[in-house]
Amino acid sequence: MNWQIISEHIAAATGQAFTVMSSQVVSGGDINSAYRLKGHDETYFVKLNRADLAAMFEAEFEGLKELASTQALRVPAAITAGSTANHAFLVLENIEFGPSSKASERLLGQQLASLHAVKQPYFGWHRDNTIGSTRQPNGQYSDWLGFWREQRLGFQLKLAASNGYGERLQASGERLLGDLDALFGGYAPEPSLIHGDLWAGNAAVDRQGLPVIFDPACYYGDREADLAMTELFGGFGRDFYAAYQEAWPLHEGYSVRKTLYNLYHILNHLNLFGGGYLRQAESMMAMLQAEVK
Ligand code: ADP
Repeated sequence: MNWQIISEHIAAATGQAFTVMSSQVVSGGDINSAYRLKGHDETYFVKLNRADLAAMFEAEFEGLKELASTQALRVPAAITAGSTANHAFLVLENIEFGPSSKASERLLGQQLASLHAVKQPYFGWHRDNTIGSTRQPNGQYSDWLGFWREQRLGFQLKLAASNGYGERLQASGERLLGDLDALFGGYAPEPSLIHGDLWAGNAAVDRQGLPVIFDPACYYGDREADLAMTELFGGFGRDFYAAYQEAWPLHEGYSVRKTLYNLYHILNHLNLFGGGYLRQAESMMAMLQAEVK
């Protein structure tokens, strides 16, 4: 890999000359290849993908900037994003990770609640981004149910139809979309800034014991959607939930709505990976339909 052009972008963005002394592959990402680039003084974390995917990294760059601007919690500083003839790239501050602890879990709970306290007057975002490698549309809506119906579940259901997941899923999905109001009795979601893809692989702890979140798919939406995703694949501890609840208690209907919010991610997994996610999506829909009175 020739790092010349990316080094020039780093130098232009930071105002300091940057020469690569060594590069090291970082494993663990789902979508992109990642490297640690060491210079004389600085080290950067670089993600690479196909040149035609530059918009994906630009959206991630802007998402990290927006999360950082709140100062609610640590995210890697976004240095630069762009493309060369061969690659799209995203350059971030390199963060050295350390062990998590009860204290770091608690802090993540508190800090996530302060992130969610950051609001805008509308649901959505100023641009689309991606969830996994799927486009995530972020039109601006004044009503949350319309947003969730059209920009989230409806979008993934249409994708599922074009991927051949037909009649039964579509029929259950349509029915659920028509009945969404019933799951929101007494609860009025607000447009909070949320991470959008908060599973355990996108959260860590730095060497000082401070939580860090990265790889966002952010937008302004119901904070319950972030909490729901932390529960989908596990990995967040009791201290995290206790601290979040102390900082900003969740509405009782969350225990039902979390299935609605995670259905979006399961439909996305169905569209990306197929297989057993079809049955999981159908059983989540059946569970939600049973709650509609
Ligand atoms: P992908 O978009 O391919 O899923 P991630 O952003 O999740 O990639 O990054 C892949 C892995 O690289 C993460 O699991 C994490 O361990 C590590 N990582 C991510 N961001 C940084 C960073 N800024 N500094 C150091 N390591 C990082």
